[in-house]
Amino acid sequence: MPFKDEVISTVDRLKRTLNTTSRFVHLHPELAYEERESAHYLTTLLKTHHFEVVEGVGGLPTAFVATAGVEQPSTTVAFLAEYDALPSLGHACGHNLIAASSVGAALAVQPFLSALGGRVQVVGCPAEEKGGGKIALVNAGLFADIDAALLVHPSNRTEIFKSALAMRALRVEFFGKASHAAAAPHLGVNALDAVILAFTNLNAFRQQLRGDARIHGIITDGGRAPNIIPDYAAARFCIRSFDLDYLHDLQRRAVACFEAAATATGATVAIHEEGEEYHAMKSNRTLGALFRANLEALGERVEQTPEDQETGSTDVGNVSQVVPTIHPTIALTDRPDVACHSAAFAEAAGGPPGDRAVLLAAKALAMTAIDLFTDPTARQQVREEFLRV
Ligand SMILES: [Zn+2]
Ligand SMILES: [Zn+2]
Repeated sequence: MPFKDEVISTVDRLKRTLNTTSRFVHLHPELAYEERESAHYLTTLLKTHHFEVVEGVGGLPTAFVATAGVEQPSTTVAFLAEYDALPSLGHACGHNLIAASSVGAALAVQPFLSALGGRVQVVGCPAEEKGGGKIALVNAGLFADIDAALLVHPSNRTEIFKSALAMRALRVEFFGKASHAAAAPHLGVNALDAVILAFTNLNAFRQQLRGDARIHGIITDGGRAPNIIPDYAAARFCIRSFDLDYLHDLQRRAVACFEAAATATGATVAIHEEGEEYHAMKSNRTLGALFRANLEALGERVEQTPEDQETGSTDVGNVSQVVPTIHPTIALTDRPDVACHSAAFAEAAGGPPGDRAVLLAAKALAMTAIDLFTDPTARQQVREEFLRV
């Protein structure tokens, strides 16, 4: 198809720009909500290419929406950019590649938007690793006029579909009473014991959970000295499931575990919801099939494993509940043991493997947008599936 050949050669022409972008973000790792340099670099590049850029959307200073195309489009395609890094590991999740490939796809499609009657957006999404920036953007209604949302995440496998669990994070504080642990234990209330009981209660509860449920946590405060009965102790937990109703049930029962721990020790408890509620991934199969055909046409081999294995949570899940979405992955290297959130993955994301992934992802994303702009039947099938499932 001529338009597809055109976007492929446009990405090839933009090779230096896209790889420089990816490497800039990689060399300036910034944590969730603090991605000022990365966001500035991306918005500057998009402005240079005459995108209309709105910064600070959804109340998040490092979020942005960049738009190009006709006033009354038949279709609006959003490419999602992520650009936050991990504490101490830098870009070990390869979000620099997500940023560069989404920008690359938008720039590749841009010259043909008038002819196609379409519109593209790059949605700059902060804080994937912590907090869930996309959830704020969904709540602000930024995806209301979007027909499809796409992004490619680097991985150790090339796959089209990956499930993601709904998740709720909780912070739990127990308040007791300090006392000398040997001389006056009867005058104390042990907050650390309440935390330990909370874990014990949850461990018993866990035996009866469905296979998709996950509950896991850490102790963040456990007292200050062994001869002082801890008057304060705290823990953080994540609760996950594919099913939002079941997640809510799990949360109610986890709260009962915390309250029981407080009752048993005489401590008081305060339970806080941390961040937003992550929703499960609703992958659009029709959109995924289009993307897969394009990726394979570019010579990439897809190795789809069972989707519900080795799954975590992502704020892309919340986007997928309001707009047809895909979140495919591209293998960064040919070594399956190089998995994300490792130092080796960070190194690959900033080197030649990352450069390859950016160009491949940008091309396949742009080609999928071309499918949506040129094929009304495909558009309708994507929409129908979204409304049906
Ligand atoms: Zn990550
Ligand atoms: Zn990631």
